[in-house]
Amino acid sequence: MLIAMRTRICPFCKEAIHVQAVVCRYCRRDLPPAEQPRRKNSHAWLAAIAAAGIIVSGAAFLAAEFLRERKNWLTEPPRPPESQNPPD
Ligand SMILES: [Zn+2]
Repeated sequence: MLIAMRTRICPFCKEAIHVQAVVCRYCRRDLPPAEQPRRKNSHAWLAAIAAAGIIVSGAAFLAAEFLRERKNWLTEPPRPPESQNPPD
């Protein structure tokens, strides 16, 4: 029978076993949990993304408010952009 499923190596007997096996079928030992998508970190990831989103949106909100207020302060018409480099 062909082994088409994903396998890993039992750390005790070095036999190929199913990747999600919790007990080796050869040596019948308990196995450490299989490599899985980091479920524990997904929460931290979400929290980090949420925090970053809050910070970014907060900064964007403050910037927008600042620019809007700044428009009120500026009574003179906008000047054309000055070139930073002196002409040759
Ligand atoms: Zn084993």
